[in-house]
Amino acid sequence: MASHSSTATLAIDAERLRTLIANAGRMVVFTGAGISTESGIPDFRSPGGVWSRNTPVQFQDFVSSESARREAWRQKAESHPAMASAEPNRGHRAVATLVSRGPAKCVITQNIDGLHQRSGIADEQVIELHGNGTYAHCLSCQKRYEIEPILSAFERDSTLPLCDTCGGLVKAATISFGQAMPERETLRAERESRDCDLFLAIGSSLVVWPAAGFPLMAKDAGATLVIVNRERTDLDAYADLVLNWEIGPLLGHAVNVN
Ligand code: NAD
Repeated sequence: MASHSSTATLAIDAERLRTLIANAGRMVVFTGAGISTESGIPDFRSPGGVWSRNTPVQFQDFVSSESARREAWRQKAESHPAMASAEPNRGHRAVATLVSRGPAKCVITQNIDGLHQRSGIADEQVIELHGNGTYAHCLSCQKRYEIEPILSAFERDSTLPLCDTCGGLVKAATISFGQAMPERETLRAERESRDCDLFLAIGSSLVVWPAAGFPLMAKDAGATLVIVNRERTDLDAYADLVLNWEIGPLLGHAVNVN
């Protein structure tokens, strides 16, 4: 385990990670909100993060209560500008390089910002556990809707979106607390976690379940588990290597990406 603060030790830790990557046959990268803070999107649990301002709307409340839907869309209107204007950062570029050059086969992400795809990783190589917040969909017939017109109508006169095809409730295409995990993505993430020999968890406090189960699944199946995060996580004790650094500088160094 390592926790350091000088540039010299960053280079040493980056080298340790580089060696593990060079020796890996099949790698999985697992990301959380921390990889996108350098793109200007706040995470949930850091000081100034989303939860220091807002309480998340539970799925059951969204479905059953108009005031909860109003609050959910208010929160979306608040968070959307940062997400809409965000660009992939050095950490995303390093992950994209690991996928394009190997040995990473896919990225399992808890993020909803679409920045892995924007950094050049093919859609089918990004497993989105918690959906995608860059668009909305009907909860009944799944029809897709763009977010901007919905937010414009909401901000104009508090209009709550309904599906123009079936009348169902329209919600950002994310998985809310209390909502079932997407079955296909969850099964695929399980398979990939069990099949890899190096599992790299980046920028997640690893407290949200079942997502936090994937690093443990990989470890149980024999993979080397590496955690990169600026502060401790709930799973540090299970990791073979913990690297407490800012993500962009560490990954950029390890993968040789600017
Ligand atoms: P989290 O907020 O619980 O944890 C993020 C972790 O990243 C923290 O431990 C923090 O210290 C660390 N971190 C932040 N910036 C960092 C940096 N630059 N370098 C190193 N470490 C850094 O987020 P989580 O574990 O992903 O789980 C919470 C939920 O948040 C997920 O379900 C996800 O859907 C949602 N979320 C996503 C986004 C996004 O898509 N960008 C943003 C906010 C929340």
